[in-house]
Amino acid sequence: MAQIGFIGLGNMGGPMAANLAKAGHQVTVFDLSAEALKVAAEHGCKLANSTQAVADGADFVISMLPADKHVQGVYLGEQGLIHSLSNSTVVIDCSTIAAETARYVGAELGKQGITFIDAPVSGGVGGAIAGTLTFICGGSEAAVEQARPILNDMGKNVFRAGDIGAGQVAKICNNMLLSVLMVGTSEALQLGIAHGLDPKVMSEIMLQSSGRNWTLEVYNPCPNIMDNVPSSKGYQGGFLVDLMSKDLGLAQQAALASGASTPMGSLTLNLYRSWAQLGHGREDFSSIFNYVKPQTK
Ligand code: NAD
Repeated sequence: MAQIGFIGLGNMGGPMAANLAKAGHQVTVFDLSAEALKVAAEHGCKLANSTQAVADGADFVISMLPADKHVQGVYLGEQGLIHSLSNSTVVIDCSTIAAETARYVGAELGKQGITFIDAPVSGGVGGAIAGTLTFICGGSEAAVEQARPILNDMGKNVFRAGDIGAGQVAKICNNMLLSVLMVGTSEALQLGIAHGLDPKVMSEIMLQSSGRNWTLEVYNPCPNIMDNVPSSKGYQGGFLVDLMSKDLGLAQQAALASGASTPMGSLTLNLYRSWAQLGHGREDFSSIFNYVKPQTK
């Protein structure tokens, strides 16, 4: 069993750390939120009072932080782990951030002989709780193989997309596609509702037809069709509109850098940004269902 330091115990990191403790690892955790730390302690994690304390003696350090600036600060900031990590520690950053930031953090840690992989995830909060996440890794083959047994305790699929940063590229491609599916599914359901159809029946029909997709299978955006999804819980407890906007911004950055054409990704970025500006940034991303609700005539 390994000694693991875990930083960032939010909607995703909290259940991921709990699953590592459940698998028998010694897990030391840190978060800025006292509430998140309390929950982690209830799941058998040991509490640290700083990021440095998390790294002490760790075989692996895992981070699950909101965005680039948090990851850069935790590893490369004035109090960053780069100053305290031993070169026998493997760093696994599971946050979704820009591929360039992952490459930069990986290169700086690499100069100190510290192994780094980016390993963003797919599968949502449900997958984090159930331990069925998909990890999309970027790093050397040897580093991904070192991390694999630990990742297997939090997920069911571990892919290597390529070198450091490649995990992030594959992840934002996936999330751009997910946003398109979520907006499209929401529009289709709202159109049917506007014509008097029952959204539950419509969902069943589309699930068995060519419109079938992940949102209809496990994450229906219309309230009260599925239990335990954010739409049935006031759009709370899932993947924030603000975080989806961030990922879609990263996808557009990547498209600009490569000259790729992503008109649908650009459209969903604008939809999610304006939905956030209307005050919905802290809701789950499936709340876009309400943005495409037809106006009453
Ligand atoms: P979250 O906002 O729920 O959690 C982030 C946690 O990081 C918070 O508890 C916060 O207190 C903590 N934090 C921030 N700065 C810190 C610091 N300097 N030191 C210690 N803790 C710090 O976010 P989340 O939904 O768990 O998402 C985390 C990452 O995973 C994001 O990059 C997101 O894009 C990605 N992601 C989320 C989902 C999802 O469904 N929620 C799915 C896949 C990927």
